[in-house]
Amino acid sequence: AAPARDRLRIAIQKKGRLADPARALLTACGLSWRESRDKLFCFGESLPVDLLLVRDDDIPGLIADGVCDLGIVGFNELDEQAKARRQIGMSDAYQSLRALPFGDCRLMLGIPEEWEWSGVDMLQGKRIATSYPAILTAWLAERGIKADVVELSGSVEIAPKLGTADLIADLVSSGATLRANQLKPVEILMESTAVLAGPVDELTDSRAGLMAMLLRRLDGINASRE
Ligand code: ATP
Ligand code: ZN
Repeated sequence: AAPARDRLRIAIQKKGRLADPARALLTACGLSWRESRDKLFCFGESLPVDLLLVRDDDIPGLIADGVCDLGIVGFNELDEQAKARRQIGMSDAYQSLRALPFGDCRLMLGIPEEWEWSGVDMLQGKRIATSYPAILTAWLAERGIKADVVELSGSVEIAPKLGTADLIADLVSSGATLRANQLKPVEILMESTAVLAGPVDELTDSRAGLMAMLLRRLDGINASRE
């Protein structure tokens, strides 16, 4: 087991769509930090709650390894890494504790504009580019579709034009990026929002009380928004 600690550590995105709303939410929970110069680590001042600023992809692993106690990450990323672990027989190491009111998006199938969508059967034998191979693989398997999953870490939407894939599964909010690449959305694989993620096993030292307090404050903020 990880050694006992008396400060809570929360991982959030350093730069990107979730960075500012995550920090604003934690600030609304009464947290404040004295920032280190390189700003990878922010030392909590109002409470013993520190921040680690990282790439969103690293957040599930940091929780799994016990380096961080909580993280704010897209459910899409959390679920991708959870499914990837399960697909190689590993046990669950993190879970979504709360859905958060930002980061809304959908993981969707995008096909070339000129295709006529006739349903999932037309995916048989096709090559599908995505940054979410575990989610896509599970989704295809549930439907009995045999297709090639082409994993790309970025620029997924240009894969059909480059000829590296026939279609894509990618995150969509307005659809503008799909349209700009002569693609159209046809199927939703997943609805996602940012979530507060935490470990599967409960904390046992003084961090447990800090986490409970933070969750109460979060729930208070969410309730007052409704
Ligand atoms: P990092 O450098 O941290 O790896 P990133 O490029 O992977 O950044 P962002 O583009 O900032 O990440 O997206 C972070 C999260 O924002 C996504 O995982 C998703 O949950 C959410 N999101 C909301 N809308 C969109 C969208 N239109 N496209 C991509 N992500 C979106
Ligand atoms: Zn990322």
